[in-house]
Amino acid sequence: MQSELTELEKKKTPRLPVYPVQATHPMNSSRLLLELMQLGGADANKSQGWDAVILRSAMRSLMLALQYRDPGIVHHSRRVAALSVGVAEQLGWEGRNLQVLEAACLLHDIGKVGIPDIILHKPGNLAPDEAELMGLLYRIAGDILQACGADSNVVQIVTQSHYHYNGATHNFSVIGSDVHQGARILAVADAYDSLVSSQVFRGALDHSEAMDVLQRGAGSQFDGNVISAMNRWFEFDQIPADLQDARHDQYQLSAEEIIEAGSLSHVFSYLYLLESLYHGFYVATPDGRVQVWNHGCEELLGISNEQIIGQPGLGGQIQYRKKSGQEPAPAECPIRLAIETGRTQSSELQVRRADGEWLSVEIQTLPLIDAAGHLQGVAEIFRDASAGREKGHYRDLRLMASRDALTHVANRGELQKHIDLEFNNCKERDFTHPFSIIFLDVDHFKKANDTYGHAAGDEVLISLARLLQHEMYSGELVARYGGEEFVVLCPETPMDTAFNKAERLRVAIENAKVVKTDEFRITASFGIAELEPGDEPDDVLQRADKALYISKHQGRNRTSKLTATQLRNHDPLMVKPSLATPDQFVCDVKLKACIAADMIVYKLKAFVDGIGAHLGKVTASSVTMRLGHRGLLGSWGATPDKQPVEVRLTIGDSRTTTQRGANLLVEIQVHIVPLGRVRVVEVFQTRCRSVLKDLREYLAADYDDMSE
Ligand code: GH3
Ligand code: MG
Ligand code: MG
Repeated sequence: MQSELTELEKKKTPRLPVYPVQATHPMNSSRLLLELMQLGGADANKSQGWDAVILRSAMRSLMLALQYRDPGIVHHSRRVAALSVGVAEQLGWEGRNLQVLEAACLLHDIGKVGIPDIILHKPGNLAPDEAELMGLLYRIAGDILQACGADSNVVQIVTQSHYHYNGATHNFSVIGSDVHQGARILAVADAYDSLVSSQVFRGALDHSEAMDVLQRGAGSQFDGNVISAMNRWFEFDQIPADLQDARHDQYQLSAEEIIEAGSLSHVFSYLYLLESLYHGFYVATPDGRVQVWNHGCEELLGISNEQIIGQPGLGGQIQYRKKSGQEPAPAECPIRLAIETGRTQSSELQVRRADGEWLSVEIQTLPLIDAAGHLQGVAEIFRDASAGREKGHYRDLRLMASRDALTHVANRGELQKHIDLEFNNCKERDFTHPFSIIFLDVDHFKKANDTYGHAAGDEVLISLARLLQHEMYSGELVARYGGEEFVVLCPETPMDTAFNKAERLRVAIENAKVVKTDEFRITASFGIAELEPGDEPDDVLQRADKALYISKHQGRNRTSKLTATQLRNHDPLMVKPSLATPDQFVCDVKLKACIAADMIVYKLKAFVDGIGAHLGKVTASSVTMRLGHRGLLGSWGATPDKQPVEVRLTIGDSRTTTQRGANLLVEIQVHIVPLGRVRVVEVFQTRCRSVLKDLREYLAADYDDMSE
């Protein structure tokens, strides 16, 4: 049977329903493919000027995404474009062709938008699966450029730019001048710029060293003619001065641009998933004009994108049949079903290749429905079901699974993985090069949300994540731990260095304009810890979290660090209560609360009510109360929450109250004794821990004197 789209096309006025609008997850396939499709904009007037080369609005969105991903790539791409255009002019190019080349050069690295930092900036060799992901770079670029309605020459130049001149990269099927000349120019300019810039894995070469390297590749990797043209160009010209220095390229993204770029980045991540898990996909308008026909579809069906793109009714080129060999009834056609129901259809059918062979495929057919409920397109995703073509490596799901959907930094799972890796590295080196952890939490974020709205709060989190990534450039991993909490993992970094880094971040956050509204400023509190011998992987994170807690309670917008020894000496949860007399247990602890002294009375009332305590003697500066009760047999009992104790709180007077920032710190001396006879010290300790935990929660208090 012919495609259902052809049928619809014949009827000319297909009545399309308006679908009920459903809230979709941001990672929903239909939504992401629709977003991909919409990069191409409405069809109007693509045939003029720049828009004929690539839609101007699409170009802008892509450059934003690239800037958001890494301003260094944008800088590099501009230099490569300037160089390529110069070389092309030497080779006699002119007019529109130069625009085509310039667009291709500016976008040649666009695929990097979806590659995680850990792979993109990895020094040394990539692992096989990482290399495989990097190998998809040009396919992703091709998909994206097609979606943008780019001139097919732009697509070809970008996707061929990594081809070797002698055909070695492509089974010698595409050799020499088979490769688009623009791609040959781009390859040389790209290599030149990389050689004269310093990279993670090596320093920069000077001009003549770089030319030597290129010359050695003439005839094999590179086109010798292009290298000669570049030599000629350099004789009387050079890369413009404003492109020599990356500082001229610093463009600050606005909050809206960050959100736009972030959301486009999801589309890229999704394309990596599609390209690595499936054998082919295409996207078409409701009347069946193919907009994106990926490389996989070309291979799978033997139909090139030039043959199919832009023709209505899928150019009549896709035919399906059932396994039995029969044509599916119209009611069984997946595209028709998807359009009628507004839902994704999964089917197993056979599809006809251009050479006449029938191929068994699993197909997912997705209706692309916009926010107003209108059908904007259809996509089909194929998996070749014939033996030996299993693409079962679900590893690339990792790519999606490792990022935080809102801020695009690593998520908690990814952080955990890296902590474990770092831990093992450090252990192998006998803890001589410990890693440190910076834990930070936005101050009073709830209030900011309440005042400016949740959407503004989201913007803040996005630009905060961006700021963290900008500031951290020595191999640190930035992760969102949850809500408004972020963690920076700093490999091979002693605690004091991490402390300085955190202070730099703290000041940067304090001074940053996080959203457009001028009065909206934020601060954050920081906690630092480093890996110490005897630690388990999670201990460092927990200590950094405790240090953060100290910063919060000391008045926020500050950084605290904590060693294992400090924690052991000062955390009463670990302290053995002192023995006043050989047969009496007493626990004395000093707490610090961050509230006004007279508020403590109210807080204490809540505490007493909350845990059902009995108030005893109350004076101006002290409160005595009894918690728990004796068991049936008159013993102390086995349930720590019920064991009877007397707790006396002595509240520091105004003289001992210190003021730090806007917060009052009040000292509270806690004295706990058991009521009744206790024999085992650990049992009493456990009880004290539970009392102190409750007290700290109700009074928002922390242990005093956490510093050495
Ligand atoms: P503190 O200084 O003690 O950290 O105060 P806080 O208000 O920042 O802390 P709290 O943990 O009480 O509140 C965190 C708030 O963060 C709660 C919630 O409103 C907000 N939040 C968490 N996740 C998100 C998110 O994804 N987007 C937005 N906009 N807000 C979030
Ligand atoms: Mg907070
Ligand atoms: Mg928090």
